Amino acid sequence: MAEERTKTAEWTLSEEQLQLLSSEESCADFLFAAKWPDGFRCAHCGHLHAYKITTRRLPLFECSSCHYQESLIANTIFEGSRSDLRKWFHALLIVSHTTCGINAVQLSEAIGVTYKTAWLMLHKIRYAMSKADAGTMLSGIVRINSASYGHPHNPSVNRHIQEQPLLVGASLNAEGEPVYVKIKRVPDEHLQGKVLKPIGSQHFIEQYVEPKTDDLESITARFSSRRFQRLLSIAKKAGQWINTAYHGIGPKHLQAYLNEYCCRLNLDFQGGAIFRYLTQLCAAAAPITYPQLIRFPTTS
Ligand SMILES: [Zn+2]
Repeated sequence: MAEERTKTAEWTLSEEQLQLLSSEESCADFLFAAKWPDGFRCAHCGHLHAYKITTRRLPLFECSSCHYQESLIANTIFEGSRSDLRKWFHALLIVSHTTCGINAVQLSEAIGVTYKTAWLMLHKIRYAMSKADAGTMLSGIVRINSASYGHPHNPSVNRHIQEQPLLVGASLNAEGEPVYVKIKRVPDEHLQGKVLKPIGSQHFIEQYVEPKTDDLESITARFSSRRFQRLLSIAKKAGQWINTAYHGIGPKHLQAYLNEYCCRLNLDFQGGAIFRYLTQLCAAAAPITYPQLIRFPTTS
């Protein structure tokens, strides 16, 4: 009960945030600034001026040169959603203001939507986070370590059914502190039991590390004395965070939750304002539908 109260308090919004949520227009203005931070730019011809057409629920922008019309939510994760922007922004504010994560049951109660709508909103937000992460490579001083999610105290070489081997990699600053972290599920084809094949770390390096990086070390032996304890501790905390907020996650959507954890952590390292940044990510990520999220879950 005490925990429930703490969480509710954490989701309490400031006057300024309540003001933002007070109308669809104020949310639309905020989204405009996130989508076009340097002002309108026509997606068709690049022209910088548009007429605003306000006869619909959400404004439509018509390029004054080529007359191409683009709605505010076109080409964003909000496209095709039946929820109004106020619900979306309420969800984004709550996601931004809780460090412990929020699950779909809690979100549906907090903003007054169905469980399915809340689930979809959270997955779309994670999708936007994953897209942003895909555009950032580890670079500079890079360290990688194997880790695991789900059943960490299994000393056997055989993989427990709930155990998911991971690779955690980080860019470090000169003091050896992580400044950007990625935690990725190891695909089954890169495993022998739960032991990583050499191709596993090769694949991680090819996919997630800047090619010119020359200060790179990867430790995959489970009992090596050279393991990077800081990285192991981050992977352990990610697992605890997922289990606390979401009560454990199966392999299908695990990567999306790991990306959410890393996105929050990386923003924390940078001291960024998470709400504004999240809105920008959501405005920059292409639309995705429920069937697509189910059929093609995030894998990287
Ligand atoms: Zn145009």
